[in-house]
Amino acid sequence: MALTEFSLIKQFFADATQKRQDVIVDIGDDCAVLSCPEDSNIAISIDTLVSGIHFFADVDPYTLGHKSLAVGLSDLAAMGATPAWFTLALTLPELNENWLSAFAEGMATLAAEHDIQLVGGDTTKGPLSISIQVHGLVKKGAQLQRSQAKSSDKIYITGTLGDAGAALQKRLASWQPEILSEADWSFLTKRLEQPTPRLAISQKVLPYVNAAIDISDGLLADLGHILAASGKGAKINLDAIPLSPSLEKIDRKRALELALSSGDDYELCFTVPAEHVPAIEALNLDIQQIGEITDEQQMVLLNENGQPSLLDITTKGYDHFA
Ligand code: ADP
Ligand code: MG
Repeated sequence: MALTEFSLIKQFFADATQKRQDVIVDIGDDCAVLSCPEDSNIAISIDTLVSGIHFFADVDPYTLGHKSLAVGLSDLAAMGATPAWFTLALTLPELNENWLSAFAEGMATLAAEHDIQLVGGDTTKGPLSISIQVHGLVKKGAQLQRSQAKSSDKIYITGTLGDAGAALQKRLASWQPEILSEADWSFLTKRLEQPTPRLAISQKVLPYVNAAIDISDGLLADLGHILAASGKGAKINLDAIPLSPSLEKIDRKRALELALSSGDDYELCFTVPAEHVPAIEALNLDIQQIGEITDEQQMVLLNENGQPSLLDITTKGYDHFA
């Protein structure tokens, strides 16, 4: 039987994710109805991924399903929220069962890892585009805001930076240093196509953090948003920026440029008051202290000798309308 809008929703989305107790009315009615615990507020964020802009039209639909949800989960992590529910607005050029089934599976696999339930959406015909709105729960007053960085806070980041940017450069600019092996490229490509939302780390560091953001547009651009919102500056030790073993292999200047100004890593950047540093370090997480917040409203990059660096960082993240 030919796939229709309604059979598509039923087949691929109505039972795609596990059911949560706090969903009063599920997919199939005009609205979903959700129950929020009394001690929490709801954090909401929406992201749209457009074919040809945010992903290549020929990308593996499984990884696309993963990434479409991962970018929203990353926003919840940056806010200190716990994932709860999401909605999905899908615009499809055609009804392709194989594509839909892989897309739904990639999305649902990540949803299961984070106990987030798909509770509604919209399905339309047109150029391929995916919007996911995530809803998370955050204990009243506990949200992590960009505006809350304080002078002398230590700046931390999760994971490694620049990996997704390297994979993008390969695809867009045929940049392919010989030193990188097949295994390096499959690692880097996975970092671009299937980012890991840092929810586990976010929940653990939450009690100690002043300000946080997720790095979707590059460290300089996104840390810049924390600094602008907080009216502060920062000193960054370039030597402390964590690079993956793959990026360690390439020219160091190039690796640092990728780490500082390429997007799509979906790591977290957060600031911690000095008195909480021992507690944060004792957690033994995949995080690295890279610098500190200053009163002077500028960003200074220090090289290994503690001297201001001459790295020429011209691109400060992606601006759709630039
Ligand atoms: P309405 O006409 O009331 O907007 P729709 O026909 O768009 O309803 O959708 C019917 C039901 O299916 C609704 O509960 C809606 O939330 C859900 N739904 C539609 N598209 C999707 C989708 N892509 N993923 C999940 N749920 C969807
Ligand atoms: Mg609708």
